[in-house]
Amino acid sequence: MTQYEPVIGLEVHAQLLTQSKLFCRCSCEFGHTPNSNVCPTCLGLPGSLPAINETAVRMAVRAGVALDCALSPRSIFARKQYFYPDLPKGYQISQFDQPLYGNGHLDIDVDGVPLRAGITRIHMEEDAGKNLHGMAGSSVVDLNRAGTPLIEIVGEPDLRSSAQAAAYLRALREILVCIGVNDGNLEEGSFRCDANVSVRPKGSEKFGTRVELKNINSFRFVQRAIDSEIARQIALLDAGQKVVQETRSFDPDTGKTRSLRSKEEAHDYRYFPEPDLPPLCIPDAMLNEERALVGELPAQTRGRWVTEYSLTPAAAATLSQHPDCVRFFEAVVGSYRNPVKAANWIQTEVLRSANLHGLHATFSVSASQVAELLQLIDDGKISGKQAKEVFAAIENTQKSPANVVQELGIAVVANEDALIAACQKVIDANPKQVEQFRAGKQALVGYFVGQVMKETRGAADPALVNQVLLRLLGAN
Ligand code: ADP
Ligand code: ZN
Ligand code: MG
Repeated sequence: MTQYEPVIGLEVHAQLLTQSKLFCRCSCEFGHTPNSNVCPTCLGLPGSLPAINETAVRMAVRAGVALDCALSPRSIFARKQYFYPDLPKGYQISQFDQPLYGNGHLDIDVDGVPLRAGITRIHMEEDAGKNLHGMAGSSVVDLNRAGTPLIEIVGEPDLRSSAQAAAYLRALREILVCIGVNDGNLEEGSFRCDANVSVRPKGSEKFGTRVELKNINSFRFVQRAIDSEIARQIALLDAGQKVVQETRSFDPDTGKTRSLRSKEEAHDYRYFPEPDLPPLCIPDAMLNEERALVGELPAQTRGRWVTEYSLTPAAAATLSQHPDCVRFFEAVVGSYRNPVKAANWIQTEVLRSANLHGLHATFSVSASQVAELLQLIDDGKISGKQAKEVFAAIENTQKSPANVVQELGIAVVANEDALIAACQKVIDANPKQVEQFRAGKQALVGYFVGQVMKETRGAADPALVNQVLLRLLGAN
């Protein structure tokens, strides 16, 4: 039997997070009354003229910098003709043979295997409106979204498995969210993906015929959709049939793809340069300003945390899952000097009640409260167990942990005399273990420490308990 190799290339449409549309000043905000954010320009009325939104251009420039793409000194807007009710002009303003950016790349990692996937191009374009079917028996159109700025990021056919495709999407989304140009929301359609899939006999150089899977709107479906399409194509070829170049969609209910239409070719769109917009030339100053805004990307941040802060890769991954979480951790580490301990605390306590969805994450405590709390533990003012109590008391307040410690009357028993009594009590209550300890079973000290902590209801300083116990047991 022939062995096949899948070949996958992704096209991603990412909505740029501007307040207004790409060629007019209508709002891009989601959830308004249908057809309320429209004007003669985005309705395509005769006589209206497009004028480009500088913020959108800046965001597109920033995305290209983050993906190491080659900036075209001069890019051209073009009209892409097609007729569909959600596109009132009868054409979409996009870019064609002279896009904003040429080739770049995206570094991904699948189960520890690094892969550099090529990016063919990034171009700017406007979004279409939304057709809504079955509204009181009719189809209607909402043009609020028409004219919203998008970038399309076209990937090279460099991916060889659905897992690589999913990793590519995650890495791309993470970068766009990190640099603040996109909110990464697949479900709401602000980050949309088309997957091009083909298969070829293993060892063959030539690509097979590709099928385009449209608008897969969740990460869960990306891999399933691609895998099901790969299986379908292999079954066709094994049966001696041919793959037809077409556009298909994935149905999550059946787990299968179905044909939507035959694939259009570029000439079907009768592209021509948009006569109402001048060529787009990015000034050096703008490029430099956007470059400065890109800063450190998530993969670099993780690498630095692992090497400089000695975090585990898993901890680094958890703490970098949202840009605000990155900022939170860095802020704690800025004033509290034990990153590993800070990472543990944030992962177990802070993230439990954090909300990381959307563009801005929210936390129940501030970074400075966490830093102060951790310092109180290190200074021996409170025990780790007491710190959890203090944490609960400062959540959703502006209170300082030190004040809360006083308020709650919490104090670690760091007084040796008080501890000696508790330690002696535990020693007296456990003659068997004492005998074993003295006979050389050193590990039992942990047991004694545990008993003393119980005796003091977690209020003792464990390091001091350890010292006192060893002394009383005659070990030093
Ligand atoms: P279109 O807009 O017609 O889909 P593009 O050139 O913009 O054409 O996008 C082509 C996409 O298809 C790219 O992401 C590319 O990597 C991918 N692709 C091209 N050929 C193949 C193939 N044989 N198998 C899988 N993907 C392919
Ligand atoms: Zn408008
Ligand atoms: Mg395509």
